[in-house]
Amino acid sequence: MAPILLLLFLVSGATADSDPVQDFCVPDPGPNPVQLTHLSTYPCKNPSNASADDFVFSGIRFPGNFSNQTGFAGISVNPTQFPGLNTLGMSFARADFEQGGVNPPHYHPRATETALVLTGRVYSGFVDSAGRIYAKVLEKGEVMVFPRGLVHFQMNVGESRATIFGSFNSQNPGLVRIPGTVFGSGIKDAVLEKAFGLSPEELEKLEKRFRPS
Ligand code: MN
Repeated sequence: MAPILLLLFLVSGATADSDPVQDFCVPDPGPNPVQLTHLSTYPCKNPSNASADDFVFSGIRFPGNFSNQTGFAGISVNPTQFPGLNTLGMSFARADFEQGGVNPPHYHPRATETALVLTGRVYSGFVDSAGRIYAKVLEKGEVMVFPRGLVHFQMNVGESRATIFGSFNSQNPGLVRIPGTVFGSGIKDAVLEKAFGLSPEELEKLEKRFRPS
C-alpha cells in the first residue's frame, strides 16, 4: 500500500477526534471569507478576540421543523452551526417528537451518542452487529447510549410531545439514515428487488417516499 494511502487508512481508523493542540479554536472567517475547499477550515480566531458568545449556542431553545411523515424535528449542532465546538471533539442535537413521532433508524459513523429524555416517554433502541436488539421505554431524565456506528431509533410513546438532547463524542458524527440510504440513493431497482424480496410496485412506493425531493 502506498504510504499516503496507509496514512489515510490509519487516520480514518482512529477511535475519536484528534486531540486539540490549544485550549480552543474558534474558526475565524476574517473580513473577506473565502470559499473553503472540502475538509478545510478557517484559521483559529486569536484567543484574545474570543468572547463568551463564541461558546454559547442559542439555536436549540425551540424545536426544529416537524416532518409530516415522521412527526420528528431534529436539529444537529456541529461547528458549522456552532463554531465554538471546533476541535473540541464533541457535538450535540435536539430532537422533538409529536405524539407517536419517530426518529427513523439511522447511525452515526464517527460517534457514540448519549440521548437524554428531557420530556415525555421515548421508546429507544439499537441493534448490534450480530442483529440483537436492545430497546426499552425511557422516562423523563433517563439516558440511553447508542454505540458508534450501530443502527438506532426512537419513538414517542407518551401522551404528549417528547424532547431529547443527544450528545456525540465527535464534532462531526455524521448521520446515515437507513431508509433514504437504501431507497433514495439510486441503487438499481434489480438490486433492491432481489435484496429485499420486493415487487417492482412495492419498490416504487418506497423509492417515491425516500427519493430526495
Ligand atoms: Mn442518533
